[in-house]
Amino acid sequence: MALIVQKFGGTSVGTVERIQEIANKLIKLQQQGHELVVVLSAMSGETNRLLELASEVNSDPRGRELDVLLSTGEQVTIALLCMALAQNGVQANSYTGSQVRILTDNTHNKARIMEIDDSKIRADLAKGHIVVVAGFQGCDEYGNITTLGRGGSDTTAVAIAAALKAEECQIYTDVDGVYTTDPRVVPEARRLDSITFEEMLEMASLGTKVLQIRSVEFASKYNVPLRVLSSFTEGGGTLITTEETKMEQALISGIAFNRDEAKLTILGVPDSPGIASQILCPIAAKNIEVDMIIQNTGHDGTTDFTFTVHRNDYKDALAVMQATAKSLGAREVSGDDKITKISIVGVGMRSHAGIASTMFKALASEGINISMISTSEIKISVVVDEKYLELGVRTLHNVFELDQE
Ligand code: ADP
Ligand code: ASP
Ligand code: MG
Repeated sequence: MALIVQKFGGTSVGTVERIQEIANKLIKLQQQGHELVVVLSAMSGETNRLLELASEVNSDPRGRELDVLLSTGEQVTIALLCMALAQNGVQANSYTGSQVRILTDNTHNKARIMEIDDSKIRADLAKGHIVVVAGFQGCDEYGNITTLGRGGSDTTAVAIAAALKAEECQIYTDVDGVYTTDPRVVPEARRLDSITFEEMLEMASLGTKVLQIRSVEFASKYNVPLRVLSSFTEGGGTLITTEETKMEQALISGIAFNRDEAKLTILGVPDSPGIASQILCPIAAKNIEVDMIIQNTGHDGTTDFTFTVHRNDYKDALAVMQATAKSLGAREVSGDDKITKISIVGVGMRSHAGIASTMFKALASEGINISMISTSEIKISVVVDEKYLELGVRTLHNVFELDQE
């Protein structure tokens, strides 16, 4: 009997009718002999609604209280699914993260899973029950409720699949797999039958939100077969797999983008040892994550230094940089929070030259100016003005012929 972990996202549990449909599908699967653990998100829009409520009473709520609030969304859907199953005579218990005991660290709002106690889940499965677990949440060692960051139900599902050594972890969502790029931006985007863990990790970290990055990290580390499928249509979806078993051998597998970037430049800083750390340490001290970094070659004993941060951190970063500029005697600080990052990703890049020049030529032919570039073995990212995001992604999708098999 195969043990499968299935996760259903917000749209898939968005209405009572959809929850009933999931119950019906689970019953069929159980009748075919599968053991089932189900992880649910909150109904679509619910987590945003709760965040909005919080902001109405407090401009900067404590992480602990925010997590108590946010975790309620998933509690609603797990209870409703169990009730729908019971209505059809099928036994299922629902568990919140802390009831399972999904132990996390205490970083509220973006906690990491440390350990999962699988005893209750295993005991229920042994009795022939379906087990329904709330995604996105756990508890720290003192029993405080924690949440795992937006999209965190994916990670709950993969972590449970790893703990139970499930045959497969299936992520049901509102698209029928992982596409060459977001099909909402490029309608010609093509579904991939498979993508490597490494590529999916890059895509997720570069802005593709179909899977939370930590879920891919977990699946890769513990070798969990991971599949993205549609809740609404039949089909095999996309299998996230190792490079050796990947079926397609494209040069570029996908295009990721991140709308929420901002960049800061400090001009005319003394070009001396230790300057990068003097600029970036105060930023790190504010818990602001830095993404791309560029330092120009110096002239006349000074240099310019540019880096990008998440747009939410732009104002704070600017304030820190202005103070730093004063103390270092820099000429000025400039910034831009209307930028976005577009990246092409593919393991095929390893063995091919000329991909960067094709990318840059294509963007130039559309008059898109590149303000920053960064590369790794399997990706090239560029920063461009946000007004060129859609055009840039479509142009690259075309030039690399991603709409064709
Ligand atoms: P869920 O609520 O089920 O977790 P998400 O909204 O988190 O769903 O993820 C699914 C969405 O991810 C899709 O609706 C799609 O617009 C978006 N998306 C972005 N990039 C891609 C991609 N490359 N392939 C598939 N979907 C993508
Ligand atoms: N409900 C949470 C969110 O909207 C977690 C999830 O759906 O994965 O981010
Ligand atoms: Mg999601």
